[in-house]
Amino acid sequence: MLGYDIVLLDVEGTTTPISFVHEVLFPYILDNVDQFLKAKWRDPVVQEHVRAIADQTNKDAQAGIVHATPIDLDADTPEVIRQKVAANVNWQMKADRKIAALKGLQGYMWRFGYASGQLQGVMFDDAVEAIKRWSTDCKVFIYSSGSVEAQKLIFGYSDHGDLLPYISGHYDTNIGSKQESQSYTKIAEDIGVLPKRILFISDNENEIYAADQAGFQTVVSVRPGNPLLTEATKKNYKLTSDFMELL
Ligand SMILES: [Mg+2]
Repeated sequence: MLGYDIVLLDVEGTTTPISFVHEVLFPYILDNVDQFLKAKWRDPVVQEHVRAIADQTNKDAQAGIVHATPIDLDADTPEVIRQKVAANVNWQMKADRKIAALKGLQGYMWRFGYASGQLQGVMFDDAVEAIKRWSTDCKVFIYSSGSVEAQKLIFGYSDHGDLLPYISGHYDTNIGSKQESQSYTKIAEDIGVLPKRILFISDNENEIYAADQAGFQTVVSVRPGNPLLTEATKKNYKLTSDFMELL
């Protein structure tokens, strides 16, 4: 019998290599944004995203940000608008800006990327096997700083097929920061179980400390490419690089 009723999983560095975001998802946007806008220029949703990016860019330009090229939706030709949007998306992503207008367009592009088979969520084999096993004996939830929509794409279009049937629910930072213990308290309340009956797995030690403080069981995920752990974490917490050990 398992010593927990719920498994709460982080994604990046836990079920999925950290490199997936930086080496697959981000380059997909940078390589395809111009072509995507061209192909779907008449799509009203694309037009909404273009307007949002233009508004943001014009605000940035007014604020004196040199990389922001103002976009005039009335005077510029569609081709010029497309090029400027692509250039603006490019510098914003390189500057790692977390801006709603950028996130909106990225999310829309990723949805097409996954649905067309150009993108697949990368999962560690043992994570998939463990998720399938856990789903029969307990319940699996996800808690990631990626949006719930992005999580559903990664798991729904994974390189191991559709994993959503094995997952009982998703949380993102709408419930609170992953580094604050109250977020974990809220998740336990929302699921309706005692914190001590939840096992949280993450590669990030600050997230582990926050969950621990909320009374969760914790395991630190050790995967290739993850940030190094402090000696204190290695000494005081359980570590794993194979989730099947936890079953
Ligand atoms: Mg992580």
